[in-house]
Amino acid sequence: MGGGHSPLSRKLGLAVDNVLEIDAVTANGDIVHLTPSGTTSVNADGVVSLTADTDLFWALRGGGGSTFAVVTRFKYKVHEPPSDGFVQFTCAMYYANETHVHAYDIYNALNDFLVTLPPEFGGYVISTAPAQANPTYNTSASPGMIMVAFEIWGGLEKAKPYLQKVMDFHPEWHIKWPGTCQPNVYKKWWDYRQNIHDRGGFGRTYLWDSLLQVDSFNDNFTRVMTEGMGTAYLNKLVPTCTGTLIGGKVTEFPADSSSVGPGLRNGLMALSCGVSWPNSLSYLDNIIISLLQKWNQELVKLGQGVYYNEPSSVLANWKVDYWGDKYPRLLAIKKKWDPNNRFTCLHCVGSDEAEKVPESIIG
Ligand SMILES: Cc1cc2nc3c(=O)[nH]c(=O)nc-3n(C[C@H](O)[C@H](O)[C@H](O)COP(=O)(O)OP(=O)(O)OC[C@H]3O[C@@H](n4cnc5c(N)ncnc54)[C@H](O)[C@@H]3O)c2cc1C
Repeated sequence: MGGGHSPLSRKLGLAVDNVLEIDAVTANGDIVHLTPSGTTSVNADGVVSLTADTDLFWALRGGGGSTFAVVTRFKYKVHEPPSDGFVQFTCAMYYANETHVHAYDIYNALNDFLVTLPPEFGGYVISTAPAQANPTYNTSASPGMIMVAFEIWGGLEKAKPYLQKVMDFHPEWHIKWPGTCQPNVYKKWWDYRQNIHDRGGFGRTYLWDSLLQVDSFNDNFTRVMTEGMGTAYLNKLVPTCTGTLIGGKVTEFPADSSSVGPGLRNGLMALSCGVSWPNSLSYLDNIIISLLQKWNQELVKLGQGVYYNEPSSVLANWKVDYWGDKYPRLLAIKKKWDPNNRFTCLHCVGSDEAEKVPESIIG
């Protein structure tokens, strides 16, 4: 409901771009069936009505969860895998060694490289700061890393020249994990993906995000990332930033085809950073969050907007950051379908007009 990006987005679009139908229960208890051509409603008395209203279908594809209705079913478009399979390629480099910070050169090279990638290339750039040993946070000393993890739609031939550039870039900085910095070919995406799981047990996590555009990838990006990682290092925090590549097919859907904001529709990367610390140190929450604010704000300034599904909880301009100039239309739809603000959450459409949300149900 907030967009939905993945390593396949640059070839197939966002999750919201692939929704064909939605079933939902509205705030007044009606059951609605939503399609691109209209809305069928069944009210509590069993009376069925059919209209050409597509507003709710539009709002539920980008306008966020917990806001317009309770979705009970999505129908998605499915896609055949490419006949020549998928290429998976992961290559990690040390962020620094004892005497030299490699990160400046790596980010500068990425600034030039990422904008050249064809839409078949999806995936991530993942950066983890170097770490000082800190028994209080359960972290050990580490040189940090910057990793590209590509999932490429189609065969190896087209991918090779791009992958070769990564393989040839300072091979002495590569982390020698088995199977990395070389292409692996799979018949189906799932053959590879089924073995990937998100790590659990994050404790307390502060997350922040910025939607970076093609022109965000310049010296300023290198500076903001290395300064942010440096501040974290000095304070014994170990942030990880995951930049999901967007662009490609995502940019081909008309701006008004869904309610996602322009930053997500036109961007090249959704960059989400996070820092975790143990629950037992909850008294440090405000100190850690304020320490990371400058980095957070500088990253937001570099891009256009913030991804609704992975945002910071501290956002001054959340309406524009999430939805750009679409907010007034979203608010009008909210007022029509949920005039009493039965559904609400932190920084969701109409939430500033709803009664204060109890901390316990902030989503
Ligand atoms: C480890 C991790 C990895 C992630 N990776 C990605 C990624 O690769 N790509 C990406 O796009 N996002 C990613 N996200 C962000 C993810 O898209 C959001 O967290 C998203 O909200 C998850 O949906 P959910 O239904 O599981 O969440 P929930 O937290 O259950 O729901 C999110 C909001 O929607 C509301 N809601 C839930 N169900 C419904 C419903 N049926 N009808 C109406 N409202 C509802 C909830 O009340 C809440 O306000 C990741 C998040 C995490 C934690």
